[in-house]
Parts: sequence; C-alpha cells; structure tokens
Amino acid sequence: MHGLMMSMPLQISSLLRHADRYHGDTQIVSRTVEGGIHRYTYSEAHRRARQLANALGALGVRPADRIGTLAWNGFRHFEIYYATSGSAAICHTINPRLFPEQIVYIVNHAADQYVFFDLTFLKLVEGIAPHCKGVRGWVAMTDKAHMPDSTLDLLCYEDLINGHSDDYTWPEFDENTASSLCYTSGTTGNPKGVLYSHRSTILHAYAAGLPDALNLAARDVVMPVVPMFHANAWSLPYACPLAGCKMVFPGAALDGASVYELFETEKVTMSAGVPTVWLGLLQHVEQHDLRFSTFRRTVIGGSACPPAMIRTFEESYDVQVLHAWGMTEMSPLGTVCTFKSQQANLDREAQYALQAKQGRPIYGVDMKIVDDDGKELPWDGKAFGDLLVRGPWITAEYLGGEGGNPLREDGEGRKWFPTGDVATIDRDGFMQITDRSKDVIKSGGEWISSIDLENTAMAHPAVKEAAVIGVVHPKWDERPLLIVVKKPGAALAREELLQFFQGKVAKWWLPDDVVFVDELPHTATGKVLKTKLREDYKAHKLPGT
Ligand code: ADP
Repeated sequence: MHGLMMSMPLQISSLLRHADRYHGDTQIVSRTVEGGIHRYTYSEAHRRARQLANALGALGVRPADRIGTLAWNGFRHFEIYYATSGSAAICHTINPRLFPEQIVYIVNHAADQYVFFDLTFLKLVEGIAPHCKGVRGWVAMTDKAHMPDSTLDLLCYEDLINGHSDDYTWPEFDENTASSLCYTSGTTGNPKGVLYSHRSTILHAYAAGLPDALNLAARDVVMPVVPMFHANAWSLPYACPLAGCKMVFPGAALDGASVYELFETEKVTMSAGVPTVWLGLLQHVEQHDLRFSTFRRTVIGGSACPPAMIRTFEESYDVQVLHAWGMTEMSPLGTVCTFKSQQANLDREAQYALQAKQGRPIYGVDMKIVDDDGKELPWDGKAFGDLLVRGPWITAEYLGGEGGNPLREDGEGRKWFPTGDVATIDRDGFMQITDRSKDVIKSGGEWISSIDLENTAMAHPAVKEAAVIGVVHPKWDERPLLIVVKKPGAALAREELLQFFQGKVAKWWLPDDVVFVDELPHTATGKVLKTKLREDYKAHKLPGT
C-alpha cells in the first residue's frame, strides 16, 4: 500500500524557485574577477538562470549533456549551477588548480559540450582547447566590455543570456536524474568522475543545514570560501537558497586581507574552508590586531583541522569551529563535530580534545570501522581500522565504470563505500581520522598516526604548518620525519621542537628527525601533497642510521 502524499520529485531547480519566492530580496554579493563588487538578489539570480537555461537550449544543449566550468565562486557560476541542472543538463565543475593534462583528461572523459570559464583562466583554456576536440564552445564568464583578445573564437556570457527571455519553466523529471559531476583530485591514478543526482543533492542539502551540521538559517550571511569546484562548495550553493541565507562569494581573492574585508563589509556570520585558507586569515588578523564583528562560526574540513587553530578561533576571536569530514564521493559531508548534551558541561580542555575529532555522522550517513578481514571493530576510541560508509548521497560507482565496483558487501547484503581513511570511533559515535590509509607510518609492525604528530607540532607557537611522513628505516621499516614551516620571523630549533613532543605522544612515536622548509606542497584541494614529500625525502638519512 502506498502512502497518500503528493509525489514531487526532489529537484535542484526547486531550491532557487523557493529562494526567489520566499527570500527574493535577499542578496548575493560577489567579488568579481574583473574588479569590484557585484550585488543582486535571489530573484534576479533566478531570472538570469532562466535566461541562461533558454540560452543553453538555443546552443543545442540537451538533457544529460555535460557543461564544464573553470570558475571561482561568483554569481555567474551560481547561475550556471542552476541553469544546467535545472534544465536536466549536468554541471561539471572542474578544478582549475589541476595540471593542464589532467584537465584535458577530465574534459574529454566527461565529454563536456561547452566550457564556461572565468577570465583568470583564459591562458589555461587557450592551452587546453586544441586537445579538447569535443568541446563545441568556450564561454568567457564576463560582459562585452571585458571580453579579452584570444586565439580562440570565444562566446561571451552576458551576450549569450542577453538575447534570451526569462520565460522558462523548469521541467519536471525523475529525481534520480544526474545533476552534476565532480572529479576526485586523483593524487593516485587518473581522476574519477563522481556523478551526483538531483535526489542525492537535495537530501544532502537538507542534511547540511541541520543544527548539528552546518547550522544554516535565513538570518545567516554565508561566505563559501571553499571553491564551488571543490565538491560543490560543500553544498552551500544548494543549502543556502534552501535556508534563505544571504550569500557572499569571494571570487579569486582568497588571501587573508581580502576575505577579512568582505567578512566585515558584508557582515558575514558563517563560512567554510580548508585549514590552509584559515591559516592565511588568522595570520592577517593577528598581524593587524583585528577582530571579527559578525563572523561567529566556521566549518573546517578537507584536511584535519589542527587543534591549535580551533583554540585560536574560539579563544581569541570567539568563532566556533565546526570540524567536518567528508569526501567528493560523499557529496561531500559525512561527519561534523558538535557536542551532545552530556558533553556541554565537560571542562574546556576535554571539549577541545573532542573537537579535534572529525565528529558524528549526519543522519543519512552510516559508518563503521573494519579490520583487514572486514570484521567490524569496537567503538572504544582506540581500535582503528578502515572506515566504510553508506547512504543516499554516497557514490555507488564512478562515471564510465572507472576503477570497477568500489563497494564492499557485508554479510547481510549491505553495500559499503571504503573511504580510504583509517579511523577510530568512540562510544558516543565520534569518529577520528588517524590517517589516509596510504599515509599511515608503519613502524616495527605498529601504526603511527601522522595526523596526531602534525597536530602536536602545530600546537607549538612558532609552527605555521607541519607534515609528517614515513621514511625508510633499516630496523623499524619506517620512522616519522617531521617537516615544518615556521611562522614568519619565528626562531625554532630541532631539539626544542622535539622536546615539545615529550609527554604529548607515546615515546616511540617521536619523530626521528625534523626538517625546516619555506613552504609545503599542496594538492589542488589544499591538502598537503604527501606523495611529493615522500618522493622528495625518500633518500633522507635519519640520525643514527
Ligand atoms: P574533498 O575534495 O572534499 O577534500 P577529497 O575526495 O579530495 O574530498 O578528499 C577526501 C579526503 O580528505 C578524506 O577521505 C580524508 O582523507 C580527507 N579529509 C577530509 N576532511 C578531513 C578532516 N576533517 N580531517 C582529516 N582528513 C580529512
């Protein structure tokens, strides 16, 4: 027997229609690539998205066609999100920080029909275009006045939509239709395409807004610092219209001074980004002795958030840190770290220890840790194993069947996605990542958590950023090598830093050596590029070997 409720497919177009109808005057503010600030409302965004949907139709874009973007966070990118998915085409966000060869691979693999790009990426586009034969047109996301000279015959975004009316009715279709596409960063092997559906996106957006997730309300002013090409900016372009938040897009200016300026002028209350961006912001406010007038909470994920950063945000700036974990394959949100009632009265130190964990699953995500034989491990906060997840916004397979079937089936016929992370889960259900499985340091048959050591190093006041990798050791197989970037002007010696570890980690975890460097290499999504560090230091001679 079926229930007797209205049957309405969950569709992305409904988010913008809702924002237009009930939050029509709420603003969307963008720092533009051309210079200056652009400001309009959800109503105008909706109108222009409909014009763009008509323009796409006139270009011959059909349902399921992939439309690529190489763009920062801004109002035109937002319009493309909705015009493509809303008209049953697929919004394919491409990370412009990848190597050009990887971008060529991705554009061709996805069979993108058109690629929309910000002017910043003109040279990149001119370089890759000859290798992307299937692309029918390259659209510069600007107006006529700013159209660049180019070796390519470019289309102009504003000209494209100006010629079209906003008379467009979003079509209704099956909620399982593909909506958007994002490739994993591919630090190992070729990037793989994660294909989201309307249903998975809407369910994820509902969950993202929950109080124990990103906690979004219509009174919030939200700045997604995390790029819209990084796992759909962690759902904010969907979850903000759902909640009716004012949105502030930072464009290409992600340095501390520019982000701080927009926070203050637009009265931003909430933001989200990877730890490296916040390092830049904190450095700026510390150097200039600034305070935040309205900024009260920030979501930090993509890499482990160092406890020292949580402490600085909360104690010095009264900004609540929501430590979150997820991955492109998970749309991306999996867990967020917020307290339960029984933890509200813990002393502050115990709370900080808890906040270093990646947190509890949002309803919709189920998780477990297993040993090498697939046997579930206890939730005691100590046992660690492979972290598996399942849920309606988690990938079942990659585009084109790339890499085969990624899922593992348990004894009861349930399918799980292996995250590639190694984690513990405590009895309250708080998960803590100890490592990416390929980054674990194996010393004498035991595992050392590189994240724990990095967090400890970053608690030292002279340390800006730290990474720990395993280096070959004749007796122990591998031993930890600590690679450190000092804060500008700070003095710090190897022995002093090693001394700082005493009593904070098990003795046999102590790094065998410390190397000071000017900067660490990062991946296209802001994680420390450990494959490069392992390559660079593979011949490093540890003391006593
Ligand atoms: P995203 O693009 O969303 O960063 P990726 O698929 O590139 O996702 O990377 C996901 C991986 O990033 C996770 O499997 C995990 O190893 C790492 N990661 C994400 N968030 C955290 C976190 N809070 N702490 C530790 N590692 C994290």
